[in-house]
Amino acid sequence: MPREYADGEVFLYRGRPIKLCSPCDAATASREPAALLGETLIVRPAPADERRRYLLYWYTAESEKIVRSLVPKWSKALAVRPREATVKYAATRWGSCSSSGRIFFNTRLSMLSDEVAEYIVVHELCHLKQMNHSAAFWDEVISALPGARALRRKLRIEEREAVL
Ligand SMILES: [Zn+2]
Repeated sequence: MPREYADGEVFLYRGRPIKLCSPCDAATASREPAALLGETLIVRPAPADERRRYLLYWYTAESEKIVRSLVPKWSKALAVRPREATVKYAATRWGSCSSSGRIFFNTRLSMLSDEVAEYIVVHELCHLKQMNHSAAFWDEVISALPGARALRRKLRIEEREAVL
């Protein structure tokens, strides 16, 4: 289903649906192009491509909050040290880790439920120990996060709706 970025359209935010809406009065008008108010994402009226940019900007900022909280926590727990962890848009990949220790996470990370986002963070950080998807890699992931396999299946379900 192609996105129109119209009022009433539903997007995912941290695993739950939120509805796009234009500001309807002074109380909901915001200086920000997009702002969450309860279960409603107030988005400044604009053509679809511009509204998409507002959403990309907002989701990137939300995903950066998750990355800033989970990457230090899990780097410490896993005794790894990523060189940097950044957020950028990608159509399919949820994250990647380079041999130089640079990790990126998808702008859409904050569309997923917190536990699935955490799985993605743990997955990428474990690549600093194993740069592959070998049995040794999965041992690292599962010993850090025992529910990792179930969370991976949950990701495959959630990602169908996590479209921006
Ligand atoms: Zn991987």
